[in-house]
Amino acid sequence: MKKISILGSTGSIGTQALDVVRHLPEEFSVEVLTANSNVELFARQIKEFRPRVAVLADEAAYKKLSKKKFRGTELAGGRQALIDAAGFGASEIVLTAISGFAGLEPTIRAIKARKNIALANKETLVVAGEYITKLAELCGVEILPVDSEHGAFFQCLQGEDRRKIKKLLLTASGGPFRGKTRDELLNVTIKDVLAHPTWNMGKKITVDSATLINKGFEVIEAKFLYGVDYDQIQVVVHPQSIVHSMVEFCDGSIIAQLAAPDMRLPIQYALTYPRRLPSPIKPLNFWELNSLTFEKPDTETFRGLNYAYAMGKIGGTLPCSLNAINEVAVNAFLQGRIKFLDIFTVIEEVLTRRDVFAPTLENLLEEDRGARQLAERYIELAY
Ligand code: NAD
Ligand code: MG
Repeated sequence: MKKISILGSTGSIGTQALDVVRHLPEEFSVEVLTANSNVELFARQIKEFRPRVAVLADEAAYKKLSKKKFRGTELAGGRQALIDAAGFGASEIVLTAISGFAGLEPTIRAIKARKNIALANKETLVVAGEYITKLAELCGVEILPVDSEHGAFFQCLQGEDRRKIKKLLLTASGGPFRGKTRDELLNVTIKDVLAHPTWNMGKKITVDSATLINKGFEVIEAKFLYGVDYDQIQVVVHPQSIVHSMVEFCDGSIIAQLAAPDMRLPIQYALTYPRRLPSPIKPLNFWELNSLTFEKPDTETFRGLNYAYAMGKIGGTLPCSLNAINEVAVNAFLQGRIKFLDIFTVIEEVLTRRDVFAPTLENLLEEDRGARQLAERYIELAY
């Protein structure tokens, strides 16, 4: 049995990962579960999967949880306990399914404890791509992609020489507002933004998908996972989300990975790699698929993609600044403090006020704090 840890077990990726475990009971035993504050769901998960350690980051939620009795599971609470749990025990692989910058430090701890990483938390590579890939190499740790597009690249590249990659063709659904003009987006509501056409995900990534920031982050993620240049990554809008991404090789061949849009597949492949096992996902029926279409992204309206290429190319602490400002702007949008299109304005205004430093861990942590503070202040003053 493979021992696994799941950070962020109550979220969209976390619950689907536990569903993978449920379908393959002979394959996995769960060492560690962590979540933020959803006590009821977390308690049910502990009862069902009996991890050795279970941590809630939120102290008040932990107090509630600790009133319940669980046999064979050690409970802990707080941010530090969560980070420690990421490196705990005999786990071979840690699935990082926490959302946002909060996933960075637990991932670092897991790598230092020499655990392979099933990486869902793409923000880790956006913020600290260079640091993380070097650390993983130093510690002899594999980073296995969970993001569906990067899982597709990973599958397309099995048995291939990465030096023969000509282009990574990164597919994007286009989000809920594909085809809309800026004017049509002036008054969209939170509900409109959260109605993603093909994927059911956590709130933050769903907003990021609507701005194309998510796709931009995936460009940076792909760069660090596969060591290509930014110019070799091309985003292709594919509204049906059936082709999960493609690799073009130097001889002109293009290999794609197709499947129904169901995150349990890339999660399972990352957890069972290098083995392929049966999965519960719905098979594709090519007699019923009407058409698969492809188009160019509209980066005039959805500027998220441009920021990621621009900041990624300059590098240093700037991708970290972009991530921090975006997190603050997305939160403000979800709290109803700013409108959808303001997310772009906040990012542009605050980014121009950030300097670039070498991406040491210390500088990145510092920049995350600084950029957040400035973004908060900007929103307070401007809206
Ligand atoms: P989510 O919001 O549904 O779940 C997040 C999980 O992390 C929850 O268990 C929550 O309790 C925990 N968490 C959140 N903030 C925390 C904090 N500060 N400290 C500790 N725990 C915290 O998010 P999600 O959609 O599952 O996404 C998780 C990650 O996976 C993100 O980085 C996202 O970009 C990535 N991802 C998600 C999908 C998807 O389909 N949902 C696809 C690709 C990549
Ligand atoms: Mg993705």
